[in-house]
Amino acid sequence: MRHMTSDPIQLGFTGRGFFQSYKWQYHSMKWRRFSLAFLHRRRFICQDCGRRASQTHHERYIPGRLLWEYEDRDLTPLCDSCHKVRHGILVA
Ligand SMILES: [Zn+2]
Repeated sequence: MRHMTSDPIQLGFTGRGFFQSYKWQYHSMKWRRFSLAFLHRRRFICQDCGRRASQTHHERYIPGRLLWEYEDRDLTPLCDSCHKVRHGILVA
C-alpha cells in the first residue's frame, strides 16, 4: 500500500499505523458527541476559510490519549476541504 504523502510528519497522521490505532475512536459515539459539542462552541465556522465546519481537527496527537481527552486549544474546527488540505490529502 502506497502512502498519500512522503512527509514523515504527515505520515504519522495519515499512514496505516495511525489509521488502525484511531479508527475505532473516530467511529465511537463518544467522539461524535465530543466533536459536535466542540463545533457548537466554535459556531461551526471553519478556521481556515470561514465556511461551515464539519470536522474537528487535532492540532497535535499525544500518544496514549483518547481523541476526546484534548483541550479546545488542541482542536480546530474545519470544513471537509480544509481538513483534507491539512492532512495532505488535497493540495492547497
Ligand atoms: Zn474550510
